[in-house]
Amino acid sequence: MKIGIDIDNTIAPTFKTIINYLNKKYSLKKKEVHSKKPSGYDLFHSDFNSFYNDWEEFLNTEKHLSMKPIKGSTRVIKKLSLKHQIYIITARNSKVKFQTILWIDKHYKNKFEEILFIDYKNTDKNEPIFTKGDLVNKFKIDVVIEDNLDEIKDIASKNSKTKLFLFDKNNQYKWNKKRPLPKNTKKIESWKDFEREIEKLENKSI
Ligand SMILES: [Mg+2]
Repeated sequence: MKIGIDIDNTIAPTFKTIINYLNKKYSLKKKEVHSKKPSGYDLFHSDFNSFYNDWEEFLNTEKHLSMKPIKGSTRVIKKLSLKHQIYIITARNSKVKFQTILWIDKHYKNKFEEILFIDYKNTDKNEPIFTKGDLVNKFKIDVVIEDNLDEIKDIASKNSKTKLFLFDKNNQYKWNKKRPLPKNTKKIESWKDFEREIEKLENKSI
């Protein structure tokens, strides 16, 4: 199978780490639970473009490079990479490729076929030229794990056969509680859950 994996908040605890970073930078005490966005930009900035400068700055810090992977992700990805083709599908811009690959290689070296980035229109850093749904379609990805419900909806709308897993770590991700979920989507709360779901799919395809 071809499996697509998101980075931020799926294998990397980015949201938690950047909130901590921005609290220090602006001497604030914002809390994760108050954000409705998976990036946390609504806590510190009024629009995405102004958040983006801080985001790029964060990616160049030691705080970013020293993030510990989300529990279970290294073990499960290592195991899955023996049987399946695994792709990273990230909404990060290819401008931050270097910083992203440095972190990936630290924990998941040679586990991925490819790291797929998204590029954005110059006028608006939040408006993609193509979306995750387009990439899933182009690379014929069978299974996706992703924490952002908006991305899940986009992928589902363009890929009727792809199995989608909405990652809501320990049921703590406030930004993906809206229901109903799109067709072919199941919520999971851990990498152990994802491992079980892949086993079920493997058994079906034999
Ligand atoms: Mg994410």
